[in-house]
Amino acid sequence: MTTDIKQLLSQMTLEEKAGLCSGLDFWHTKGIERLGIPSVMVTDGPHGLRKQQEGGDHLGLNDSVPATCFPSAAGLASSWDRELITRVGEALGAECQAENVAVLLGPGNNIKRSPLNGRNFEYFSEDPYLAGELAASHIQGVQSQGVGTSLKHFAANNQEHRRMSTDAVIDERTLREIYLASFEGPVKQSQPWSVMCSYNRVNGVYASESDYLLNRILREEWGFEGFVVSDWGAVNERVQALQAGLELEMPSSAGIGDAKIVQAVESGELAVKTLDLAVERLLTFIFKSVESRKNGATFDKETHHRLAREVARDSMVLLKNENGILPLQKNGRLAIIGEFAKNPRYQGGGSSHVNPTQLDDAFAEMQAAAGGVSLEYAQGYELGSDGVNDALQQAAADAAARADAAVLFLGLPDRYESEGYDRSHLSLPENHIALLAAVAAVQSNVVVVLSNGAPVEMPWLPQTKAVLEGYLGGQAFGGAVADLLFGAVSPSGKLAETFPVKLSDNPSFLNFPGEGDRVEYREGLFVGYRYYDKKQIEPLFPFGFGLSYTKFEYSGLKLTKQRILDSETVQVSLTVKNTGDTAGKEIVQLYVSDVESSVIRPLQELKGFAKLALEPGEAREVTFTLDKRSFAYYNTALGDWHVESGVFRIAAGASSRDIRLSTELVVESQTKLPVRFHRNTTIGDLLTHPQTAEAAKKYTSMSGLDSLMEDNEEMLLAMMRYMPLRALIGFGQGRFTEADLDEDLRQFNALVTEEE
Ligand code: BGC
Repeated sequence: MTTDIKQLLSQMTLEEKAGLCSGLDFWHTKGIERLGIPSVMVTDGPHGLRKQQEGGDHLGLNDSVPATCFPSAAGLASSWDRELITRVGEALGAECQAENVAVLLGPGNNIKRSPLNGRNFEYFSEDPYLAGELAASHIQGVQSQGVGTSLKHFAANNQEHRRMSTDAVIDERTLREIYLASFEGPVKQSQPWSVMCSYNRVNGVYASESDYLLNRILREEWGFEGFVVSDWGAVNERVQALQAGLELEMPSSAGIGDAKIVQAVESGELAVKTLDLAVERLLTFIFKSVESRKNGATFDKETHHRLAREVARDSMVLLKNENGILPLQKNGRLAIIGEFAKNPRYQGGGSSHVNPTQLDDAFAEMQAAAGGVSLEYAQGYELGSDGVNDALQQAAADAAARADAAVLFLGLPDRYESEGYDRSHLSLPENHIALLAAVAAVQSNVVVVLSNGAPVEMPWLPQTKAVLEGYLGGQAFGGAVADLLFGAVSPSGKLAETFPVKLSDNPSFLNFPGEGDRVEYREGLFVGYRYYDKKQIEPLFPFGFGLSYTKFEYSGLKLTKQRILDSETVQVSLTVKNTGDTAGKEIVQLYVSDVESSVIRPLQELKGFAKLALEPGEAREVTFTLDKRSFAYYNTALGDWHVESGVFRIAAGASSRDIRLSTELVVESQTKLPVRFHRNTTIGDLLTHPQTAEAAKKYTSMSGLDSLMEDNEEMLLAMMRYMPLRALIGFGQGRFTEADLDEDLRQFNALVTEEE
């Protein structure tokens, strides 16, 4: 950096320093002319640029400059393609450069706890590893262009309901393993220029003033080097927020937050060095962005539109394809039904709402790709209403009856899901369901293309032969659908979230969205597939699922070692072959399970994945590296990640429920968990601890049960396992005293301390 930040800081007045800690307006930081500190722009994000020239708002209401609208995160994530998402990031970064934007506010990476969350379309996954890897790729792409990102919304912002006041109550292990982990990966891998704190409280404390989240975990533990910005309006008490590590309050606080900071420094409540550190971080960011500016940068709208089409194509998930009805035959007659075919739902509502550079019309794109097929369009339903329009529905059924197959564009209208509120059910609108039934009554070849940001229930699935999950596919949704339906490209997306049969199957169902301003995450670690697997609940479509027009065969799973220390890594490799007759891409998933564990753990967890493009007949070997974290759980007593020594199962699959190969590995921990025996330590615990097992055998004769069970040692041991030591004093009838207990404890604790 060419600017001397410390020198600049020393020239600033207290008021100037405090002023820098909040926005100038909705989208800019403040400049200080006399010191040559410029004002820079930050703006939404995440899957397209929303730069407002005037009329700032954080709900996507006012217009913004045209920008490429890529598929939103729910779609992007289904590509499971790091490299592709990095390319999207690069394109977004280039558009920011062209519009002189310093930071793109995204990606969003909250975990999908409930499919009802109105903002799930903006988030990647229910799995923190997958979400983290994809967010890291997005960040790398954007930042490679000299534009910053803001990883959001940190943390536990998993619902929109009362988002500015609710308190997410989460036990520490769950917080670490699920809700923080999706941020930890990208912070460590990609160093986002900023992190945006969320509106809500986490275990009683506003995220904006959580020293635990911002200072201790984000900075000290994970090594975050950027600045923290508040979500728009998330600051509760400005001074506490600054002390907790929140540098930039957005949008402008109208001078109120700044004045509070000045006053706190003057009264001695706030150390000036805390303010200086915040200002130093902000100046570092401002000058980094100035030095990364590419003056006169432009981008090619057509190239970006083509990229949007490629991404949409690789993101859509083929959920059903009975009798290989897809790809569609290029002859005969097709009925294309549903207003979404001409007027697509391709992005979500709220702050991520982009004004696209152009917008595909699926019907027109299908016509262009159809070859000899004749297409007939029927509107089918009215977008503005849920009620059935009999005339439109009848006309659609008539068109379907005349055709060889019908393609229905169904999904969730804008009003169904958005930032700011959650859904209350997972159904499609009544008129979409009725239309499908009317069409299916006269036409057996029914293909459904869905536009929605999150799972829907599909009681109507039997009425279809094929379902293509299009998610919110961005501005090139229409072209991508045409490419896939007519087979120019094989579908290659897989679900980054579970689709439940019904809402009540979802693990958060009983505790979403909570009571008043309190939502308890009582399902704990068991989010998404972690729950469906363990409870043995059959989902509608499992995590990691997606069909292709071709087939893949898995073989040769092997490890570089059969046994490792937890400080070592192991390589896992296998071969995937395209055994069908069209080119396709396969997403290989690697799941790890702790075969036997003394702590409660999910049955399996995703720890690796790769997407391979394979020509017909082509085979490729893929290699994954597993490390300590792949086997560890978060041990709250230790305050660290811990591996329990033993056997782990390593499984490679085409989905979480389609495991093709598996093998075993022994991992040995190098960390001894601290042990301390006390009056209420059970005999069983002593008998299972290697250092005390021998000595503890003597207790079996003191329980008072031994004489009763002379012939049944096994039963005696089982009964004694949960007896605390102090109970022996009474039951032992004088054979064991308080003094004996103290002496035994002293000896046992000495044994385990020596061992450490
Ligand atoms: C959203 C953020 C967004 C900000 C600015 C907030 O309401 O939660 O995601 O970046 O507004 O528009």
